[in-house]
Amino acid sequence: MIYLDHAATTRLDDDVLAEMLPYLTESFGNASSQHMCGRIAANALTSARDRIAAAMGAKGGQIYFTSGGTESDNWALRGIYAAMKGHIVLSAIEHPALLKCAEDLQKQGAEVTLVNPDSSGIVSPQSIKKAIKDDTVFVGVMSANNETGVIQPTAEIAAVCAERNIFFYCDCVQSAGVLPFVYDGVGGIGFSAHKFYGPKGAGVLWLKKGARVERLIAGGRQESGLRGGTSNVAAAVGCAAALEKAVKCRERNNKKIAEVRDYFLDRVLGEISGTALNGDRNKRLPSNANISFEGCSGDRLLALLDMRGICVSTGSACAAGATTPSHVLTAMGLSDDMARSSVRFTFGRENTIEDADKTVEALKEIVRKLRYN
Ligand code: PLP
Repeated sequence: MIYLDHAATTRLDDDVLAEMLPYLTESFGNASSQHMCGRIAANALTSARDRIAAAMGAKGGQIYFTSGGTESDNWALRGIYAAMKGHIVLSAIEHPALLKCAEDLQKQGAEVTLVNPDSSGIVSPQSIKKAIKDDTVFVGVMSANNETGVIQPTAEIAAVCAERNIFFYCDCVQSAGVLPFVYDGVGGIGFSAHKFYGPKGAGVLWLKKGARVERLIAGGRQESGLRGGTSNVAAAVGCAAALEKAVKCRERNNKKIAEVRDYFLDRVLGEISGTALNGDRNKRLPSNANISFEGCSGDRLLALLDMRGICVSTGSACAAGATTPSHVLTAMGLSDDMARSSVRFTFGRENTIEDADKTVEALKEIVRKLRYN
């Protein structure tokens, strides 16, 4: 198998699994219990929180454990809106975890403005500034898009929000462990361990000191009483171990992954006619190549690559099977047909030049078949 869908999820790292295992077996205690078993679990949870803060480079603020990116996004938007009540600004290319949540809030009377990116997939700070109103309480722009990999100017957007004292939330699900986090002017950050070789079901919501947020889950006193429920200690430990490793190996991995991705991209664009890269070529994550294949259905391409053991995706995994074309690509101005003809290839640290070559050869045959049969 050739796995080129690392934006959807990654394989659990062996070292990370080894760190998690004791908390699923002999050190199985409930972190809220007052006896020895509980204390061991509670200490592991505290240490995981500290390790994550250190790996994130977070000075101050609070780390809350969640079940992943979707929950962190939901909690940030619902929780801040419930506490502050006011106008919401989101980029139109956010993940459904924020967009659908905003739709729910709209039904409850919230006013929401969506801001489109330009044709290269970038949301400009000026367009965010224009969308802000006197009663804006929440601005959300992701650090890198999950479909195109395009990196957003979040430091500049955060500065715009800071000027007006508006809470700025940055969904860092795709960039955690790949790009450094931005803090100046940022109110909240969310990410998910399974995107950087950690376990599924483990996420983080970081909130700056003093952020006003309503609780997510009523129950016990876990997560400062804001998210009740027995703590998933193994997941928290796994998240910490995976983030530490990702940050430690960041330069080396980014360089290696970008080399394979660039080689692949140059071959596809140079050797297969009617192909185009979606999104800015340079301001993008090292892993991502989102390509339109004129005259081909992305879904058919995916299925035929799958038959040859090559795993890719059209759009994001969360939108897989959707009949509407990608909201990200159409917001960038692509026609429905071009958006439907696009495929997302996302490379990871195990991929090689040989994987890229095999995929290009498969693509050449499949595209020929789809166009001329
Ligand atoms: N935000 C972005 C940008 C994502 O790419 C994803 C998942 O792909 C999510 C949020 C949701 O994360 P999770 O799968 O951990 O719920």
